[in-house]
Amino acid sequence: MDALPQSQGLPVLDGDICVACGACAAVCPTDAVYPPQRPEQILLRTLDGLPAVPLLLACPRASVDRGTQAPVAGIVRHVRCLAGLDMADLLAATGHGQRTLWLDDTACGQCPIGALGPAIQATARAADRILHTFGLPGRLRTTALDTGQLLDSPERRPVLLGTQPRLSRRELFRGLIRGDEASRDRDPAPDLPMLLPGGPVALRLPKQLPESRRRLLEALARLARSAAVDMGAATLAAQDLPMARVKVQGDRCSGCGLCARFCPTEALAFAGPDPTVRLRPTETVPFQLAFRADLCIDCGICQVACPEEAVEYGEELSLRDLVEPGWSVLAAGALGACRRCGAATAPRPGDGAPLCYACRGGEGEPLHGTGGTDMLDDLRSQLMEYLGGSQEDPGA
Ligand code: SF4
Ligand code: SF4
Repeated sequence: MDALPQSQGLPVLDGDICVACGACAAVCPTDAVYPPQRPEQILLRTLDGLPAVPLLLACPRASVDRGTQAPVAGIVRHVRCLAGLDMADLLAATGHGQRTLWLDDTACGQCPIGALGPAIQATARAADRILHTFGLPGRLRTTALDTGQLLDSPERRPVLLGTQPRLSRRELFRGLIRGDEASRDRDPAPDLPMLLPGGPVALRLPKQLPESRRRLLEALARLARSAAVDMGAATLAAQDLPMARVKVQGDRCSGCGLCARFCPTEALAFAGPDPTVRLRPTETVPFQLAFRADLCIDCGICQVACPEEAVEYGEELSLRDLVEPGWSVLAAGALGACRRCGAATAPRPGDGAPLCYACRGGEGEPLHGTGGTDMLDDLRSQLMEYLGGSQEDPGA
């Protein structure tokens, strides 16, 4: 089933095929398909009103009326596919690390929606590793993967509907207050200590932090409140998170700022001269490139945008990276004038009169990674045009 076919490079929703399972919204890093009303919000309110006992979460197709082999105290039936639950939902569904939650994925392989079992299992496994790293008692299990922990035979358990939060007005009010406390747990983002009085460079593309990321950061902040580990020392594999640990090879970075300009969430911040300004031959200006892991959505755009192939991704993030927002400086130094066009660029080691990346291309010297894909080459051409890289030698 493909309800999101591509047309001219863009996904188009086929309303005749879409069954509103929510799987696309759960994995979309930019919330491009974020529905205004998510049934998962009601499910979480239902779970929030239940005691912190092990529970089984089942989709509408799961046959749980005769019981379950999962070692749980009760069953909660969700109104749609469990693939609609994203990482933030699963963490919250464990009572923020206080209960073990089983997902009933036994029948996913036969489901007419398609093969979403692996997606459900991958999110559950990643969320479970996060709970484990925070040192919390709650775990995430699935009936298809964790067969060794199942009971020998099904046992009947009460089945609750996930659409019926059993909250009194007072409990609901308390829940809202807890939600506010979770938001307050996250310190306001510290300002980037800019080298330049003008602040971040102009010409950024529009930025926004997706709502799903806000929910995930709030869920992580709730876990941090009861964590039993050293947040600076405990690490998570980047592959378990929808975030990246961006690194920059300092000897390759020419300080062009393209990575920060195209970063869609402002996880990268660049302070430096306006790229349209040309420097005098002996003039130098400082620059600084900094990164915040909690805002990064692992889109890979910075690596594609970097003409020097200076951007790489690390394999681990510390818990502190995720729950205590702070800037780390990836590259800094002084930019001088390109000897051909006067654009600000970082000199390379032993390069007394530097050439900017655009003029290096214009002189026929290869840019790094010229063996890239067509898309990469196209993007680089567009980026050069966007920057207005001159092929004229002002001194000629
Ligand atoms: S991968 Fe790079 S461009 Fe994408 S959000 Fe992270 S820092 Fe920004
Ligand atoms: S050279 Fe690459 S890493 Fe350095 S500022 Fe430009 S795009 Fe960013």
